[in-house]
Amino acid sequence: MNIVHCNGSCKNYKAKSGLDGGRYEQGQKRCPECEVFVEWEGLFCPCCGRLLRTKPRARKLKRKLALSRTR
Ligand SMILES: [Zn+2]
Ligand SMILES: [Zn+2]
Repeated sequence: MNIVHCNGSCKNYKAKSGLDGGRYEQGQKRCPECEVFVEWEGLFCPCCGRLLRTKPRARKLKRKLALSRTR
């Protein structure tokens, strides 16, 4: 599996800031690699190819479970 890195192109898709909460609800997705919200219809970051988060961060208790299931 290729190691993916931010190459800077995510700034072209970067979601506008200044919106009141509910970023995910507005269709914005967060890339864990680029650490930005992007407006992108695909599931994967157009910049680094990482799977984008489409939901608010899970609660701490669930996080462990989610991590082990991700693989
Ligand atoms: Zn990027
Ligand atoms: Zn990315």
